[in-house]
Amino acid sequence: MYRNFRIVPQIMFGSGAFNQLEDVLKPKRVTGGGFMVFILDDVFSGKELEKRLPMQGKDLLVPVDVTHEPKTKLIDELVAQIRHYAPVNPDGVIGIGGGSTMDIAKAVSLMLTNPGSSADYQGWDLIETPAIYHVGIPTLSGTGAEISRTCILTGPVKKLGINSDYTLFDQLILDPELIEGVPQDQWFFTGMDCFIHNIESLHGCMINSFSKTYGEKSLELCREVFVDNHPESAEKLMMASYFGGMSIAYSQVGACHALSYGISYVLGIHHGIGCCIAMNVLEDIYPEGVAEFHEMMKQHKIILPKVVPDDISRKDMDLMITTTLNLEPLWENCLGKEWRTQMPQERVEAYFRRM
Ligand code: NAD
Ligand code: ZN
Repeated sequence: MYRNFRIVPQIMFGSGAFNQLEDVLKPKRVTGGGFMVFILDDVFSGKELEKRLPMQGKDLLVPVDVTHEPKTKLIDELVAQIRHYAPVNPDGVIGIGGGSTMDIAKAVSLMLTNPGSSADYQGWDLIETPAIYHVGIPTLSGTGAEISRTCILTGPVKKLGINSDYTLFDQLILDPELIEGVPQDQWFFTGMDCFIHNIESLHGCMINSFSKTYGEKSLELCREVFVDNHPESAEKLMMASYFGGMSIAYSQVGACHALSYGISYVLGIHHGIGCCIAMNVLEDIYPEGVAEFHEMMKQHKIILPKVVPDDISRKDMDLMITTTLNLEPLWENCLGKEWRTQMPQERVEAYFRRM
């Protein structure tokens, strides 16, 4: 069976495109006396970008702290805050920030129209009612969250996205100017998320011409950014992220993402740096990709921290291993249907011990 998947229907790209947000929102302001919700990464609080938001009337600004990756509890609180603010739903939700903020905006727009807690919808196609109109505006590139049909949330019992066709943004504004001030380490870690998406997609069993086309182009762009230091790096990285997201949308990630989920769930390590820490020890699975990754690390003087304590408890180690091995599709993509014989618990533990 072939998957019949949706993509974001409207996309604007180019330096300064953010200035057209007001025009984009105008026809969506349909409720008399209605309002828009702007979910903004609080790194921009009091900064120029906040001042440029085309807020009017009763529009609501919701700054979000993404020190920790989004939790279902946060989503439920934000939805309660918006319901308390007005008796009607907003006309739109606009998420401006990195992968975390975009995921928060996606989740909030879904939960404003669906009952219960966001934790009830962690899984595949559990959402029944379409979301509020929602717009994604990345200020950090690499995750592909702008184009994906998921928003990754940590819930009371699992870290899993709300995967659905309704999760996809209705509109993207890709403005390379917005990613220009990202601190170097963060720029590298989130950018490498994209590089790794491509390596895992292109080396997986689920690869097909659709995913290969996007993955190869994205990889080429990553090299222009991280090896050649191309003068148009911001534009190229923004497109690499989008294409990398499109590549995994019709294939799958692999061992690196599976391992990174383990350290993320148990130790709270962020996605981008977590993927880098996992990639660093995977030379036996992705030899060429890891060699290239090491070259890029060297070029950008990136030093990875050791995150798994030598004295980690047995319980935490076991939880990391089961979290990782539960991601069956990722392992199957990486090693084939008989992956379990190749990836016993001891091998997973040995990877973790090196991280
Ligand atoms: P992020 O959104 O967590 O942000 C990382 C840091 O960068 C934060 O401190 C943030 O404030 C800061 N930042 C963002 N933009 C900035 C800018 N322009 N200038 C200065 N600082 C800026 O980082 P991320 O790597 O983009 O996203 C990771 C998140 O994305 C995780 O929560 C992960 O689960 C999620 N994710 C989602 C998908 C998906 O398909 N939905 C895919 C991969 C990852
Ligand atoms: Zn990723």
